[in-house]
Amino acid sequence: MRAAVLRTMGAPAPYADSRPLAIETVVARPPGPGEVRVRVRAAGLCHSDLSVIDGSRPRPMPMLLGHEAAGEVVEAGDGVSTLRVGDYVVFSFVPMCGHCGPCACGRPVLCEPGAAANARGTLLGGAMRLHDAGGTPLHHHLGVSGFAEYAVVSEHSAMRIDADLPPKIAALFGCAVMTGVGAVVNTAGVRPGESVAVFGLGGVGLSALLGAAASSAWPLVAVDVVQTKLALARELGASHCIDAREGDVAERVREATGGGADYSIETAGHAQVLANAYAATRRGGTTISVGLPAPDRMFSVPAVSLVAEERTVKGSYMGSAVPRRDIPRYVALYRAGRLPVDRLLTHTLALDGINAGFDRLAGGEAIRQVVLFD
Ligand SMILES: [Zn+2]
Ligand SMILES: [Zn+2]
Repeated sequence: MRAAVLRTMGAPAPYADSRPLAIETVVARPPGPGEVRVRVRAAGLCHSDLSVIDGSRPRPMPMLLGHEAAGEVVEAGDGVSTLRVGDYVVFSFVPMCGHCGPCACGRPVLCEPGAAANARGTLLGGAMRLHDAGGTPLHHHLGVSGFAEYAVVSEHSAMRIDADLPPKIAALFGCAVMTGVGAVVNTAGVRPGESVAVFGLGGVGLSALLGAAASSAWPLVAVDVVQTKLALARELGASHCIDAREGDVAERVREATGGGADYSIETAGHAQVLANAYAATRRGGTTISVGLPAPDRMFSVPAVSLVAEERTVKGSYMGSAVPRRDIPRYVALYRAGRLPVDRLLTHTLALDGINAGFDRLAGGEAIRQVVLFD
């Protein structure tokens, strides 16, 4: 099959010239017990892929990237119980064992065997099913590796979805939508009339904005440095749009929300933006960290403010999701017109154009781009 393989992190931009992702012929071995082979129909370009390419989120190399994708099950290994051949699926980038402590507590995002497998670059059961033309094994990216014509994954990395959902839309639910909407409805638990400020308007940030709008958050403040993204945020329900390059951002959010946001949601993955987000909350407010800063970035706050002002800082990984519960809910909201995630899709491309696609993502010219396979 054709696939996009990353062999070395830290290649210089522009990626259209340095081509960190090589389009190669890759061999996918048959699915083992509890695994399925999926014909990938669409795969989104996410900033977390870019963070592996540029080395700010190191992963074992070589690796077949891509963690936001959708497709059709074409082969099932022994003992697969949740999926059948012919099912349409969207991938979840944390496999859920279903049995560990966090899974038993209803927090499958924190699945311990799932996290260990993702760190190793293997499937949930420990296997690596991909190798290059020379026989060198390729690591799996977050149990998915969606930038390929086929993916071999644990059945616990794939959720069945409606067959009639267009693949380029379905893919978005696997990362951007599950992460952004989940940060609002699961991690924050926003109630109608509570104020929300979203920092960073990529696919995840705009999904958080959509989730906050669907939750009747008000005022609903959008913060970014790209005018086209701020304009889109306005169309999607933001009451205030703030260019972070102008003036004191936190002060402007406090003005827009009458004293500070009940919830600040940081999706840019920068420690300074996170500090701004914290400073923009009201007394008693909550800051949700969704972006992924580089491992050496630190975040500090006046310690007394946690107590005397009852402030909260919470992390949100994959939207604190329960994917089998949340993805069908978000899809139903999309179908009802309450969560117009199709507005996030700015480009579709062929696999050959993937390096140029990451240039567009890095440059803020794109929100969600999806590779289509025919
Ligand atoms: Zn992602
Ligand atoms: Zn688990």
